[in-house]
Amino acid sequence: MSSYRTEAVVIKSSDFGEADRLLTLYTRNKGKLSAIAKGVKKPESRKAGSVDLLSHVSLYLAEGRSLDIILEASLLNTFSNLRQNLHLIASCYAILELVDQITPDRQENIELFRLLTQVLTKLDEVVKDEDAGKILTAFKIKLLTNTGFRPQLVKCANCSSILTTASNRFSAALGGVLCGACGNLDKASRPISSQAIKILRFIQDEDYDQVMKLDYPKVLGMEVEQQIRYYLEYLLEKELKSNHFVEKVNGLSS
Ligand SMILES: [Zn+2]
Repeated sequence: MSSYRTEAVVIKSSDFGEADRLLTLYTRNKGKLSAIAKGVKKPESRKAGSVDLLSHVSLYLAEGRSLDIILEASLLNTFSNLRQNLHLIASCYAILELVDQITPDRQENIELFRLLTQVLTKLDEVVKDEDAGKILTAFKIKLLTNTGFRPQLVKCANCSSILTTASNRFSAALGGVLCGACGNLDKASRPISSQAIKILRFIQDEDYDQVMKLDYPKVLGMEVEQQIRYYLEYLLEKELKSNHFVEKVNGLSS
């Protein structure tokens, strides 16, 4: 049985028998995988508390036939500040679920691991809920880029003409904004304001500090978040079901 060390974020955790927990880990070196944390429900376990949901941990694992086994675990970051804020915890759990849904098993994606630990670290530092909202939105856009679904926001996703401020629509099916002339092509597309397009373009490429400095009305932030949510829901429901999503991700990283 071979063993290995890796860093990981615990993205899912459930009971497994009397004393064990079954964890889904997003690891630095092997992408997403499932592992058993033996005995962690016993109070005397040395691993207890170091493999909680959301924690960033350093692990020593043994490769199992289907599930790997955690031999040693040490805590790198519990993100204790963000755990004080219930809204933030809920948002973080949503992020973990998204990462779980969007990623194939055992596919190394070091950049995604970096994005995940970075967003949790940032959220642990922020004080204002408003900033946390901006960071969460920005993470989702960066995740889309990382997994090969960067939305087209400069040219029309259908005819490639440069977008003007005229009536544009966002099409999840076509993966970006449609110009006024092409808007009817996708009946499920949604109107998108030119300000929302500008903000999306900005946060697609800027780091979190720049994103937090960007000042825009709350209602515009809600529009941006809704557009991304609509796009993500489309990708997860339609594509994941048919496995195209996972295939596309696999194809991209191979
Ligand atoms: Zn067009």
